[in-house]
Order: sequence, then C-alpha cells, then structure tokens
Amino acid sequence: MLRFDDRVAIVTGAGHGLGRSHALLLAERGAKVVVNDLGGALDGTGASTGPAADVVELITKNGGQAVANADNVATPEGARAIVQAAVDAFGKVDIVVNNAGILRDKSFGKMTVEDFDGVLAVHVRGSYLVSQAAYPLMKAAGYGRIVNTSSPAGLFGNFGQANYSTAKMGLVGLTKTLGIEGARNGIKANAIAPIAWTRMTEALLPSEFEAKFTPERVSALVAYLVHETCEASGEVFSVGGGRVARVFVAEGPGWKTDDLTPEAVAGNWEAIMAEQPYVLTAADSMKAML
Ligand code: NAD
Repeated sequence: MLRFDDRVAIVTGAGHGLGRSHALLLAERGAKVVVNDLGGALDGTGASTGPAADVVELITKNGGQAVANADNVATPEGARAIVQAAVDAFGKVDIVVNNAGILRDKSFGKMTVEDFDGVLAVHVRGSYLVSQAAYPLMKAAGYGRIVNTSSPAGLFGNFGQANYSTAKMGLVGLTKTLGIEGARNGIKANAIAPIAWTRMTEALLPSEFEAKFTPERVSALVAYLVHETCEASGEVFSVGGGRVARVFVAEGPGWKTDDLTPEAVAGNWEAIMAEQPYVLTAADSMKAML
C-alpha cells in the first residue's frame, strides 16, 4: 500500500470536488494535509472559510491530521500564507497539489479581459505562486512532489473556454519546465487532465456520468504521482472514470528543404502534417532541423 506517513501535503481548492477527494485520500493514507479553499462561487466571486473547515472536520473525525486555510492562491500573500500554514502546523512541505480552479465561460467574441485575466490568475498564477512559495523548502529538503491540474479543454480546446483552455495549456508548460528544473533537487512535477462529476461539471455532463466519473477515480492517480516511489516528472496524464493515459506533446517527422517557399509549404502539406515517427523533446526537434 502506498502510504504518506510523515509527509506534509498542501491541496489547494480542497473544499469541494476533486481537491476534497485528493485531501481525504492523502490524509487517510497518513499525510498531514493543509486543506486550502477560498470558498467562493464557481466563477471565483465571494469567499467563505466553511468548505475548508468542513473537510478538515471530516479528516479529523476519520482519525487523520489536517488544518484548514482559506487564503487565495492567486495572490503572492495568499500563496505564502498557505505554505506558512503547513510550516506552522507540520514543519515542512513535501507535496503541493495545485487544484484550485474557477470557470468564466464565454464565447471568444464576448469574453472580457476580466474573464480572461481572472481565470488565468487562479489556475496559472495560483499554481506558480503556491509552488514557488513551497519551492525553497523542497529544494532544501532535496525532495518534493507537485501536481498541477490541467484539463482536456486545454489540451484539445473547447467552445466557450478560451480563457480556461489558455490557462490549462499554460499549466502543461509550467509542469514541463518544473520537471526539468526540479530534477537536480529531487522535485518531480506532473500534470493531470481529469474528468469528474463535481459542481464544475454537473451541469455539463450527462447525469449517468455521476456514478462512473467519481473524484476518487482521479485522486488515485494524484496519490501515485505525489508518492515518493513515483519516478515520472514533466508528464501529463488524462484521467477519468477509472482510465489513466499518458498525454504527450509530440512533433511529427516534418519535411525539409533548403529552399522553403510558401508554395513549397502548400505543395508538401501532407508530409508536414504527418504524425509518425514523432519526437518528444526540444533537443530532438532541433536535431531534426539540422
Ligand atoms: P470545484 O469547483 O468543485 O473545486 C474547485 C475549488 O477551488 C472550489 O472549492 C473553489 O472554492 C476553489 N477555489 C477557486 N478559486 C480559488 C482560489 N483563488 N484560491 C483557493 N481556492 C480556490 O471544481 P473541480 O471540478 O473539483 O475542479 C478542481 C480542478 O480540476 C480545477 O482546477 C478544474 O479546473 C480542474 N478540472 C476539473 C474537471 C472536472 O471534470 N471536474 C475537468 C478538468 C479540469
């Protein structure tokens, strides 16, 4: 059994849905958990200490250890306070699960700059800020596990979610670079692109999805990714309904010439669009151009 005794975890947005489920599972398996949640509405407005406190009460009732925190992941002060809560209560931070998220769906033409910036602030800035506040502690310990929460909407696009898709693909870039930079300090970072029945999706998914797409079926992967035995880093995983799959950003074999013209591009479109054999790293992409 993969356990987390003596490990300290921060789970952001853990008052509801996926984060709540991640926090409950990690605590059940011995982790000391900071349950962070701003407690606002789905669009990020409002705030309440209730959701985080309720989850801590449940963990404690089940014999686990947790503290509640209702700071905002999207501000530097909030992120620092979340990490400080872990240090004050448990002395360190081993695990950060960046899960907090909001939605402000609008078709692209109608999207306001507030809708765009607000969504990026929670997902991208929030993940960056909380991870960065914990980073010096992880570096000093030579150990850390970070999970960022992407989305199929970011990986593949989705109508009405230009802000959310941008944020969620941004987290793929953050995860990949953190995976590279963290390697020398024992810090591993991965991302998940989940599907689960939560308040965020209950109005969007067919009702028969509720029983199959449980948050618990996402948390199992998160727990593996933040365990000390996990070797993966810089990876992205699609997860939902009991299925887990690697998602990878790949570059096709391409087509090249010393005399590239717009007409040459048009005339060789099929070869340019080919998918196999692919390369997976910037170094291999550069090699293929030489
Ligand atoms: P949810 O609304 O139940 O949970 C999100 C939580 O984040 C809420 O409890 C909310 O209060 C909290 N939160 C929002 N802004 C915050 C802030 N600034 N600081 C701290 N906490 C904040 O939704 P969920 O479905 O559990 O979503 C969890 C994560 O998974 C999100 O990042 C979401 O984008 C992502 N996701 C979910 C699905 C899905 O199918 N449910 C799919 C793809 C991605």
